[in-house]
Amino acid sequence: MTATSTAMQIAIADDDAMTRRLLRALLTAAGHEVLEAGDGEAAWALLQREGVSLLITDWQMPRLDGPGLIRRIRTADLPGYIYTILLTSRDSKTDTVAGLEGGADDYLTKPFHAEELRARVAIGARILALEASLREARDGYAYQASHDPLTGLLNRLAITTHVRAELARASRGGHPLSLALLDIDHFKQVNDTHGHLVGDQALCHVAQTLTGAVRPYDWVGRWGGEEFLVILAGTGLDDALAAAERLRAEIEARPLRLADGAALSLTVSVGVACAGPAGEQPGDPVRLFQRADAALYEAKRMGRNRVCR
Ligand code: GH3
Ligand code: MG
Ligand code: MG
Repeated sequence: MTATSTAMQIAIADDDAMTRRLLRALLTAAGHEVLEAGDGEAAWALLQREGVSLLITDWQMPRLDGPGLIRRIRTADLPGYIYTILLTSRDSKTDTVAGLEGGADDYLTKPFHAEELRARVAIGARILALEASLREARDGYAYQASHDPLTGLLNRLAITTHVRAELARASRGGHPLSLALLDIDHFKQVNDTHGHLVGDQALCHVAQTLTGAVRPYDWVGRWGGEEFLVILAGTGLDDALAAAERLRAEIEARPLRLADGAALSLTVSVGVACAGPAGEQPGDPVRLFQRADAALYEAKRMGRNRVCR
C-alpha cells in the first residue's frame, strides 16, 4: 500500500550525502519539494528562510545535532508548526524515548523502510493539516470576537481594550491622548425614510470614511448603534479638535450614493476629550469616555453637525 499526502516543503538535515539522496528521491517521487542541509546549523538557516512544514533530521551532525536543532525549533517563535522526524542509526529504546521527549514528533531508525517512511510522512501531513485548520479557526474566532460584523470596525470590547492600552502607553511616555466620540445625526430618520438596509449601508459608509480619514496609528471602532469612537494617539486637545473637525467635514462632504442615484447626506456630532499633559486627568478610561460622551451631548444640544470638547 502506498501512503500519499498533500505536497509539502520538506527539509532533510543529514551529514551523509547518500542518505540525503535516498530521501530526496523518495520524497520527490511522492510529490514533495525537498530542501537539503548538511548539518543542524544549515538546516536552521534554511527553516527560517523557507516555508518548510516537515523536517527529517539525523541525530549526529557537525555544528548542531538533531536534538539540538529540534530544541531550537520548539523554543523559537516560528510562524507555523514544524513536524519533525528523527531518523537515526541509534536504535536503543532509551534513544527513542530521549528523541521523542526532546520534542521530535516521530522517530525512525536507519536503515529505513521506504514505505514506512512515506507512511510516517503522511501522518505528519495529516497532523499539519489539522494544526492549520485549528489555527485558521482560532484566527477566525479572534477576528469575530474583536470586530463588528456589519462595518468591519473594531467592536466596543476591542476599542475599549485599545483605549486602556493607549492610555497606559501615553502615561508611561508622557504623551497626551484624545478620544473623539461620533454619533450620526437623525439616524433614526434614515432608517424610517429609506429602510434598515440603507441604514446599514450608511453605517458602513461612515465607517469607511472614518477609516480613510484617520492617521495610520489612530484606531476606529463602532461604539454602539450609530456611534463611533476614534482614538487619537499622541494628540493633545487642540489637535484633537482639529482632527475631529476634519472627520466631521469629511462625512458631511461625502453623501451616500443610493441605488436610484440620489445622494443621502449624513452628518455627525462629535465629542472630544483629552487625557494627559495637554488635557486634564491622565489615566481613567471610564472618566475619559464620560467626558467625550458629555461633549457629544453638548454638540447635539447646540444643534448637531459640530464638534464640542
Ligand atoms: P440624534 O441626532 O439625536 O443622534 O438622533 P438619532 O435618530 O440619530 O438617534 P437615536 O438614538 O434616536 O436613533 C439611533 C438609531 O440608530 C435607532 C436605531 O434603530 C438605529 N440603529 C442602531 N444600530 C443600527 C444598525 O445596526 N443598523 C441600522 N440600520 N440602524 C441602527
Ligand atoms: Mg444619532
Ligand atoms: Mg446614538
